[in-house]
Amino acid sequence: MTTPAFTPRVFSGIQPSGGLTLGNYLGAIKRFVQMQDEAFETIYCMVDLHAVTVWQDPADLRRNTRELAAGFIASGISPEKSIMINQSQVPEHAQLGWIFSCVARMGWMQRMTQFKDKAGKNTQNVSLGLFGYPALMAADILIYHATHVPVGEDQKQHLELTRDIAAKFNHDYGVDFFPLTEPVIEGAATRVMSLRDGSKKMSKSDPSDASRINMTDDADAIAKKIRKAKTDPDALPSEVAGLEGRPEARNLVNIYAALNDQTVDAVLAEVGGQQFGAFKPLLSDLAVAKLSPISSEMARLMADPAEIDRILAKGATQAREISAPILDKTYDIMGMVR
Ligand code: ATP
Ligand code: MG
Repeated sequence: MTTPAFTPRVFSGIQPSGGLTLGNYLGAIKRFVQMQDEAFETIYCMVDLHAVTVWQDPADLRRNTRELAAGFIASGISPEKSIMINQSQVPEHAQLGWIFSCVARMGWMQRMTQFKDKAGKNTQNVSLGLFGYPALMAADILIYHATHVPVGEDQKQHLELTRDIAAKFNHDYGVDFFPLTEPVIEGAATRVMSLRDGSKKMSKSDPSDASRINMTDDADAIAKKIRKAKTDPDALPSEVAGLEGRPEARNLVNIYAALNDQTVDAVLAEVGGQQFGAFKPLLSDLAVAKLSPISSEMARLMADPAEIDRILAKGATQAREISAPILDKTYDIMGMVR
């Protein structure tokens, strides 16, 4: 349990490492919007310092950061209710990130599956930043003493590491300074899978565009990708147990349920017995109905990048009112002369 002494505060971030996907929307952004109307302060971040752990073209990074901010707003995040920031505009993230690089142990970091997935066989040739990523992520969260972090299932291990870092810092300095943050991994689609491979997560940085639905895809592109999505030859089952061993079928049903705010059971009660030839058009129509208002609002917002920059500048000022005193206190606890 989180110590009640900490203000209930939500932090979460998304990398501007490409365009937003349906996985980002269902696994993260939908929850961000809901939590903004619950009893939390909410801080949502474009984590550009994480994106550059892999080389980014500067023009693309600039555009992707603004487009991500537009995606947040178009999905329902209100700059009045939430603090919206770009990570590099709040320098305390990187400063605490360094401290946490000194708290985290090599053995902990070497167990991180995201690093193994992203580095693949190339471990000697990826950046040091990609390896250190989870220490910076812990800093993103703890620089605000955030108590809750809504994320997709793939980030569970990094959230556990964040708790280990907080606990070790508190223990090493004999303080109760950093909260043990709770992951919030909820909904029917906490792990949306690639449309081409049911064993692989849908990712914005996947080289195959056919593997994902982008928030900016038009109706034709969405319909085509869903029509071509990998499936098996069997009909859909009427109960969840029938999805066992059928990852592609499970994925499409999970997506349908999450988009329509239904349980998987309720979806299967309606579509059980259907072939994919019948179900896929239903899913496309639903995806288009839910995503097209968001993508057209994103396009409208992108026509005025100065307004997006203004929102991010205001967010950075608000964020630093929280982060600067926490960094200062951290340095003081460690004995750094202030
Ligand atoms: P990249 O491929 O560059 O890592 P990504 O698509 O994994 O991009 P991130 O910025 O790493 O996106 O993650 C942002 C948020 O979206 C995190 O909370 C993450 O858990 C969530 N998320 C990412 N992919 C999925 C997915 N396929 N299903 C559910 N949630 C996801
Ligand atoms: Mg990712």
